[in-house]
Amino acid sequence: MALKKKAGNDLPIIDVKLCSCLKNAKPGELAPKLLRKIEGKGMLHHCAADAYEAMDAAANAEGIDLSPTSPADTYRTLAVQEYGFFQRYTTDVIAGQKPRIYQGKAWYLKKGNAPMAAPGTSKHNLGIAIDIANASEPKRLAWLKANAVSFGFSWEVVPSEPWHLRYVCGDAKPQRVLDYLASKVA
Ligand SMILES: [Zn+2]
Repeated sequence: MALKKKAGNDLPIIDVKLCSCLKNAKPGELAPKLLRKIEGKGMLHHCAADAYEAMDAAANAEGIDLSPTSPADTYRTLAVQEYGFFQRYTTDVIAGQKPRIYQGKAWYLKKGNAPMAAPGTSKHNLGIAIDIANASEPKRLAWLKANAVSFGFSWEVVPSEPWHLRYVCGDAKPQRVLDYLASKVA
């Protein structure tokens, strides 16, 4: 069977470097001081928030609108991740599917649902992941592909989750983020 090349197939995946202030943080239970609101739509860890706002400003300047699919698709508390996970996954065995393990049980993705990490294991629980609305729209995806890495973001699961970006640069803010922060002060 010939593999059909899907949009997003060659999106870059870069390993995550965690900010030093996240090293001992409990996923889904971040201290409020580590988090910041973005555009009134959810929250991110402050390093990821700086990078996201810098990227959003650059996108806006080129006529591309970036926003999270919902406030729950930025930082997620453990409770929010559990709520989504339990809605999408079932302990009823679905033949041929590799389950996710949570609380010692095997969980199967119900038909028609997008996959979701088990609670506590998602980069959303650390406030460094954000799902971008309509990320597959060709113009937006092309812009992200050309620019996201320079703002410290990369993909995690491709090609199936072109919307899921996470901040990978830890304490070493990329130059475009530093430039954005400097321009805000000036
Ligand atoms: Zn995501």
